[in-house]
Amino acid sequence: MLRILYQIFRTGIVTEPLPSETEAEIEIVGARLEKDILKQFQRSLTIRFVDAGSCNGCELEIHALSNPIYNCERFGIHFTASPRFADLLLVTGPVSKNMEIALRRTYNAMPNPKLVVAVGDCGNNGGIFGTSYASLGGVGNIIPVDAYVKGCPPNPADLLNGILKVVSM
Ligand code: SF4
Repeated sequence: MLRILYQIFRTGIVTEPLPSETEAEIEIVGARLEKDILKQFQRSLTIRFVDAGSCNGCELEIHALSNPIYNCERFGIHFTASPRFADLLLVTGPVSKNMEIALRRTYNAMPNPKLVVAVGDCGNNGGIFGTSYASLGGVGNIIPVDAYVKGCPPNPADLLNGILKVVSM
């Protein structure tokens, strides 16, 4: 234990701080999210995330929401592995034919009322992949979508704003 504490003391803080304007934006959107989540979801918004066929660029930004810099848990946002506990479904990618059934099943397994946010230009309309023999295009072609977050990929602040849009509806 002492060895670990010594290592922590010796290493210090190695993460880089956010640029001040991004920090300010996150604080503003985070405060609004916290208020709406407290009012409508009793402090805890649970998200199930599905990659329906993306290039993984959007996933990196979604994962950043949980890192020590953005730390979305402080606003009451949690990710779950089970759709049965989820209030909100976050979907990335054009929907590949192989993921269509899985996406429909995930949506159907969620309790009502359920919210859906499609992430990225691909989630919006298929993006650079469009529609083809392997791609069914945007998420809205398969399940009802409540909000779109555009960008390729959208950054964490855009994602939080997209989530805010649906929780404050
Ligand atoms: S929107 Fe861009 S980053 Fe996201 S899955 Fe499509 S190509 Fe990748």
